[in-house]
Amino acid sequence: MAEADWVAAVRTVRELAPGGRVLLICHVNPDGDALGSMLGFALGLRRLGVRDLQATFPGPFEIPDPFTGLPGLDLLVPESQAYPDPDLVLIFDVASESRLGALVDRLDTGGAAVVLDHHASNTRFGSVNLVDATAAATSVVAEELLDRLDVPLDVEIAECLYVALATDTGSFRFDMTTPRVHEMAARLIATGLRPGDISRRIFDSRPFGAMKLFADVLGRAQLDPTAAGGHGMVWTYATLDDLDRHEQRPYVLDALIDPVRCVVEVDVSVVVKQTAEGEWAVSLRSKGAVDVSAVAVALGGGGHRLAAGFTGHGTPGDVVVAVREELDRHLIV
Ligand code: 5GP
Ligand code: MN
Repeated sequence: MAEADWVAAVRTVRELAPGGRVLLICHVNPDGDALGSMLGFALGLRRLGVRDLQATFPGPFEIPDPFTGLPGLDLLVPESQAYPDPDLVLIFDVASESRLGALVDRLDTGGAAVVLDHHASNTRFGSVNLVDATAAATSVVAEELLDRLDVPLDVEIAECLYVALATDTGSFRFDMTTPRVHEMAARLIATGLRPGDISRRIFDSRPFGAMKLFADVLGRAQLDPTAAGGHGMVWTYATLDDLDRHEQRPYVLDALIDPVRCVVEVDVSVVVKQTAEGEWAVSLRSKGAVDVSAVAVALGGGGHRLAAGFTGHGTPGDVVVAVREELDRHLIV
């Protein structure tokens, strides 16, 4: 990332007048990186003395249970209560304006908008864009900006940034788990946070009903060995009725992709999750044979080369047919 972008971001934050209102925004249906990078940065701004501070995200105001213990949650407000015309807007883990929902209007009504992100597909819609596609998580970018603003890490900021880093690296398992990632993790852990407690909360906690729901949904998974130029695909779907039957909230489905992507016979895994009548949030993963980010972009979404998503329409079968068609167009090998 160009040094000039860092300089512009530091200047933009420092130029905030005393009493200036800051609105931090992350993407709809926030995950650990979205919430963690946003709240960690918000706590850093609080340490700098910024008092008029809100954090928000578009869509239903629901925090997944694993994140209800995050420091800085007191700064979070529903989008309906977010400053209509903030003096400074900071945007986290958002690759394109479509992921801002109705909050997209703050790009016009607010002051400068600084975008912190790590998606290669980022459309650079801010007035300052800190987009590092080599960063494992948005929190890597957030940590560097905090450092350049001379905000020392404390255990609360560190916990937020650690949750973000652990989420996006699949608990330090994926390829983007570089030396830089472990060095950052070391700095965060050195503040005194408890990695075991955090991992249990964000990865290894599930209501009994969610386990039963997973059993139903995994039980209907289908193998499609000829998809993706013969690299193969496994897919399944979950409906709102599945959630109702097991009395579960939608966020529990975010973890469903993990058992599905373990299937050794195939390269691509797909989980189709109903969000409304005829509307589905689709998660795509590849082990390296397909650029699923390109697949998702072709279908109106986005993401990373090996992990991406989009909103699908029709029946789960319709959605999977659309995915299957795109897979062949975006083979890496
Ligand atoms: P997940 O499958 O975990 O929801 O998302 C995987 C990746 O795809 C994340 O990096 C996320 O930002 C991106 N992604 C998921 N759904 C969408 C979508 O509907 N639109 C866009 N632009 N990106 C998405
Ligand atoms: Mn991210």
